Amino acid sequence: MRSPTASDPYPFANQQQPCLIGGEFLTHGKAFTNINPVNGAVLGTVTEADAALVDRAVQAARAALRGPWGRMSAAERCALLRKVADRIEARFAEFVSAEIADTGKTLKQASSLDIPRGAANFRAYADLALARPSECFETATPDGRGALNYSVHKPVGVVAVIAPWNLPFLLLTWKVAPALACGNTVVAKPSEETPSSATLLAQVMQEVGVPPGVFNLVHGFGPDSTGAALTAHPGVNAIAFTGESATGSAIMKSAAPCVKALSFELGGKNAAIVFADADFDAALAGTMRSVFANTGQVCLCSERVYVERPVYARFVEALAQGARRLTLGGPFEGADMGPLISRGHRDKVLSYYRLAREEGATVVCGGGAPSFGDERDQGAFIEPTILTGLPESARCVREEIFGPVCHVAPFDAEEEVVRMANDTRYGLAAAVWTSNLQRAHRVARQMEVGIAWVNDWFLRDLRTPFGGVKLSGIGREGGAHSLAFFSEPMNICVKL
Ligand code: NAD
Repeated sequence: MRSPTASDPYPFANQQQPCLIGGEFLTHGKAFTNINPVNGAVLGTVTEADAALVDRAVQAARAALRGPWGRMSAAERCALLRKVADRIEARFAEFVSAEIADTGKTLKQASSLDIPRGAANFRAYADLALARPSECFETATPDGRGALNYSVHKPVGVVAVIAPWNLPFLLLTWKVAPALACGNTVVAKPSEETPSSATLLAQVMQEVGVPPGVFNLVHGFGPDSTGAALTAHPGVNAIAFTGESATGSAIMKSAAPCVKALSFELGGKNAAIVFADADFDAALAGTMRSVFANTGQVCLCSERVYVERPVYARFVEALAQGARRLTLGGPFEGADMGPLISRGHRDKVLSYYRLAREEGATVVCGGGAPSFGDERDQGAFIEPTILTGLPESARCVREEIFGPVCHVAPFDAEEEVVRMANDTRYGLAAAVWTSNLQRAHRVARQMEVGIAWVNDWFLRDLRTPFGGVKLSGIGREGGAHSLAFFSEPMNICVKL
């Protein structure tokens, strides 16, 4: 496998990234620039789909439902999806280059998580869709002949997939793969911050012979742009969205008039709970990962860490030492942490660092933006930060910051920490660190979240339900849950 380097450049250098509509790559219309967050350099331009292009994409997707795609057996469809996975792997280095150019994330992460998971999503859903059972009931009738009720799974129709920038390829394919496996057609909109791996995916779809209009790609922004046009379009039957809770709320409004089906994976303000009986080193290593992975830009990251008082001071010190040791740098520098996604996002996170001080926090380490004395000063780097001393009512403890930062608070009793962990408008994930088996099950079950880990974090099995409660989402994806969202079950009743 080639590793992307300066000599193996960004796949879209010197060209405008197109949209893919009805099997045609289109570059006309407005364009926006794509910025490298490592050094602020312009990577290139991207075609912005206006309402007319979005309309063409939806029409193409509708037409494709009636074309060869609609007549294909599930086995044929899933064979094509496996080819998509094979082709992603064949072009692995380009996908990695695209992803790290857009995000600045480490080469290690992009090549061990983001891109492999993208390919895995297509294989997993090809397998799951084929293995899906259907229901059958024998029903008694007054005349004694009986009836057979059986269910078939039909596609929902045209599905809009809207993805965020933090794990761009992983999260886009997490929805595109099951949507296609269930026979739908897709209009996908990646984040304006991270268009490139999605454009490569559009090329792959063409290369493996996915029929025109089955996968359409529209680039652009959210409000007053591509995203808003897509979610309001009456030809879209369902919307699968990952992003901020406030965006989910806006999308819900625009989907309301046509009563579209919605699947939402939204924000989080996740708690990690460390009991004094936990394996200290494992809890520390796990919490380091859960706070700083992907520069803190994972919806599942822990921003609230609660530590039982006997080990609190030692844990805070060890966490701060770990944070101070983290190296910051571009994808090829072997650094532990890359930049945030953009200068704009850095401004937001820095405003929370300032707010934390105003709210009375002790900044144990970090709290600012680093200075390198080189081109990285034009990038979006930020210091890993540990806060303590805030009341539970502080905005920094209640609002999602989405950066490499956590607040650490002590607790004395299990009931107290369960109450504090659940005292939030979000409900995505929690991590519980303990060596007491009974407590592990008891506390995990009481967490008001969609996913609770015990003695680990981010361990994923694609068959399990994934999603959140409260402001963190609507519905579940993963395994049978995704297949359920992307299908319409239909009952056929046959009198015998
Ligand atoms: P965002 O909501 O700003 O944008 C996500 C996508 O929605 C982008 O493609 C954007 O262009 C589009 N969009 C924005 N406004 C829109 C509108 N009015 N209509 C239609 N589309 C619109 O989110 P982000 O900043 O890209 O991502 C970070 C957020 O995503 C965080 O809140 C994070 O917690 C959340 N997230 C959640 C999960 C999860 O699985 N629960 C996973 C990753 C990220």
